Amino acid sequence: MDSFDPNAVAIRGGHFIGGEYVDRGAERVDVNRPSDGAAYASLPMADADLVDRAVVNAWQAFRTGGWAALPPRERARVLRRFADLVEADAATLAPLEAIGSTRPVRDVAAWDIPYTAEGIRFYAEYADKIGGDVAATDPSHLGMTIAEPIGVVAAIAPWNFPLVMASWKIAPALAAGNAVVLKPSEMTPFSALRLAELAVKAGIPPGIFNVIQGDGRIAGDALVRHPRIGKVTFTGSTRTGAAIMAACAETGTKPVTLELGGKSPQVVFADVPDLDVMARRIAMGITGNAGQVCNAGSRLLVERTVADALLERLTPIFGALRAGPTWASATTLSPIISEPQAARIDTIVGRATANGAALRCGGARADAPTAGAFYQPTILAGVPADAEIVREEVFGPVLTLQTFDDEDEALVLAQHEQYGLAAGVHTANLGRAMRMVRGIEAGSVWVNRYGRTSDFVIPTGGYKRSGIGKDLGRQAYEANLRFKSVLIDLNG
Ligand code: NAD
Repeated sequence: MDSFDPNAVAIRGGHFIGGEYVDRGAERVDVNRPSDGAAYASLPMADADLVDRAVVNAWQAFRTGGWAALPPRERARVLRRFADLVEADAATLAPLEAIGSTRPVRDVAAWDIPYTAEGIRFYAEYADKIGGDVAATDPSHLGMTIAEPIGVVAAIAPWNFPLVMASWKIAPALAAGNAVVLKPSEMTPFSALRLAELAVKAGIPPGIFNVIQGDGRIAGDALVRHPRIGKVTFTGSTRTGAAIMAACAETGTKPVTLELGGKSPQVVFADVPDLDVMARRIAMGITGNAGQVCNAGSRLLVERTVADALLERLTPIFGALRAGPTWASATTLSPIISEPQAARIDTIVGRATANGAALRCGGARADAPTAGAFYQPTILAGVPADAEIVREEVFGPVLTLQTFDDEDEALVLAQHEQYGLAAGVHTANLGRAMRMVRGIEAGSVWVNRYGRTSDFVIPTGGYKRSGIGKDLGRQAYEANLRFKSVLIDLNG
């Protein structure tokens, strides 16, 4: 799908509890399209009572709905059907995802939806793969661990890739036999409802996959604190992640998976074989989704001898991106999610230049055919390592450029005192690449590429304030189980 008419998209709003749409809330708020700022729907906001209703419902479904008790291969079969329905629903799901988010519909149809479906299939395959172990105990005993679902998992998702981020949370939780209450971002609430609707259609029992809408500090907080929640899996900002971890500690030492912010470096050594390829790779790493990506490669570190040549190739790529609405096929630069977020980007860039950073391109709002908040892809050079623009996550298409003279200096610059989400290392020297891989404190390090492939088997997650635990991979599946130790006295 290349384009669509935003005024022709039917929006079904509300919450999804016990297999049904529930349109109830203490208050309603308008939801705006980032592409043109227009309010296109309104959303009922859950209060603590409605959150309680959703969680209790999920708990009852978990205890009695038969999902956890299904033979695992049957559970896998239902999940595969769910994935097929998601993929087949692209004509509805793609505009629903694109209209209120920053994801161009072409990308949603070509990538987000098939990737979401395939991720569900990936976890379906885990359903009968991890069951526990028999332990090498004293032969008079039989000792084992049994893998069990946790119960009701609270999943809280951000706005930057609404479907994909939700699927990273719900797929392993459901495959492991849990019930889920998902709270999407209040800025991108609708595609999650369609996902839950398709889950029921596929045969997931009503009440196993629920969606509540609302403000993070009200509905999100009530969800995390609910006594029937067994685990919280969250993707979002470091500040919110810390608040959620504290709430989990206060209300039952609930386990958490936290995927948080980052300020990831891309380190380019002078021996890279092709600076044109390099420039395209760097640009993709910071301008995709207009930089609103947790692992955006926002800090470019270049060996001094090739810095000018690389910059010369980067600026035209940045300049060629075309800002536009998510529903237009010509759009190659996404809108910024909201006006306040665009203003924040502009303020941080303005402070950087006021403090002496050299603007190499961008640095202002971008022109676009619609009235949304767009920001020009921006490069700032001459920035000291302790500058705000180098340390703070901007969450926009803003790249800083620093130079280094040798590997030791590159490694020092690559480290961030707080974040450790991802890093890219670009060099033809394998030994150097591996020294950097070992040295950089980050949960993911990519060599001679930037960003993930579609291999779900590789987990993702941050070091330090970039998070705890992993999404994807076996690790995310195991994090949705708890392991019971059983000891049987064979002479008893
Ligand atoms: P956010 O933290 O503002 O909100 C994320 C979600 O948390 C939303 O659904 C929000 O309603 C909810 N929330 C807010 N306060 C809450 C509270 N007190 N209790 C419970 N829930 C609460 O983040 P955002 O602006 O939506 O997303 C952008 C951030 O997400 C960036 O920092 C980005 O780096 C990060 N992110 C990380 C990853 C990753 O995999 N590490 C992926 C995508 C985004």
